[in-house]
Amino acid sequence: MTAEILAVGTELLLGDTLNSNAQYLSKELAGLGVSVYHHTVVGDNPVRLKKAYADAFSRADIVITSGGLGPTKDDLTKEIGAEYFGKKLVMDEDALKTLESFFTRIGRVMTENNRKQAMMPEGALLIPNNNGTAPGCIISDGGKTLIMLPGPPRELNPMFEERVVPYLRERSDGVYVSRILRLCGVGESTAEDMIKDLIEAQTNPTIAPYAKLNELTFRITASAKTEGEALALMEPTVAELYKRFGDNIYGEGNNLSLARVVVEKLIEKNMTIAVAESCTGGLMASALVDIEGSSKVFLEGLVTYSNEAKINRLGVKGETLKNHGAVSCECAKEMAVGVAKLVGTDIGIAITGVAGPDGGTDEKPVGLVYAAISVKSNVTVNELKYTGSRQRIRGRACMATLDMIRRALS
Ligand code: AMP
Ligand code: MG
Repeated sequence: MTAEILAVGTELLLGDTLNSNAQYLSKELAGLGVSVYHHTVVGDNPVRLKKAYADAFSRADIVITSGGLGPTKDDLTKEIGAEYFGKKLVMDEDALKTLESFFTRIGRVMTENNRKQAMMPEGALLIPNNNGTAPGCIISDGGKTLIMLPGPPRELNPMFEERVVPYLRERSDGVYVSRILRLCGVGESTAEDMIKDLIEAQTNPTIAPYAKLNELTFRITASAKTEGEALALMEPTVAELYKRFGDNIYGEGNNLSLARVVVEKLIEKNMTIAVAESCTGGLMASALVDIEGSSKVFLEGLVTYSNEAKINRLGVKGETLKNHGAVSCECAKEMAVGVAKLVGTDIGIAITGVAGPDGGTDEKPVGLVYAAISVKSNVTVNELKYTGSRQRIRGRACMATLDMIRRALS
């Protein structure tokens, strides 16, 4: 089964909106074993949209559109889609009722042009939208299927998961099952090198690696008649990956994150944590707070940016700063011990570094970061070296420190 993604909206072409729907849909389709060979973006223009449909259907069985289902004149995806299939638009009474009750619920009057959103191509399958006004729909005819979804990701994502996934599953010959391994602490190119032989030999299952900040993900996908068969088919590959990457694999699953693993481990071990951040300026605190349940273990985070803050709040010695500087192994150690003592936690974390773009020296270049972890007063410091923008350095330092905590806890 091949599918294409056709994103509709002039705002995408102008660079105002990032085409994140294409990324989301591609990832989901890959997991379902549907091949995607083309993405297209087209503006809100009837002639070019019609041409885009024709081009996409000349290559693929399924076209999934996003955007252009709104109430205004420039929203044309459904109109042109219906025309492409030679279908008329007719009022869908159920969709109209849902739309009316949506407006009642949010206490707004439904305007006449909103009724347009309840018009559906004849014979189309309706996809209800519980988070907005524009329903989606599916037209299927002559071996070609057009799946139309609204633009806002918070509407498109649940509609895809709840309606489109079952629809596609029913129509595919077998099942495609994926396992997602999450790694940290091994570089992308090193990792790819380590699995070159597996990638070269792959057919079923396939391994797809991708990297983000300090993290690496392997998606292993197998197809078979049943889910059990597919899982069994990928088992040797997964076992081999565990053998090669060991504890660099921190878990499995799409929604897993390093911060989640850290918070869960802290809860399991009944340990508390406090963080003192300099260059990351609260990123670590925010990453921990992002995880529900973190209030049980994360007690306090301080952004001690100036030397004075490091001295006054954390008890870093003036002498240490004078002799070694704020970006040093010694300072990181005193910060970590200091914050654990101040807050009274089992674990103290400290991050101090040169985020750039200015402020680097030969001895302490931009991208040099020290991360310290104090567990019941036993301190470990890591020296990290990064390149790239200020944001990238800060983000990577935060991830590497989370990984330090994870390793310290396991
Ligand atoms: P529309 O359904 O065309 O009215 O789009 C409504 C809103 O959805 C737009 O203003 C964007 O904020 C968002 N949107 C549309 N297309 C995309 C896309 N491909 N990726 C991410 N967001 C989008
Ligand atoms: Mg639009």
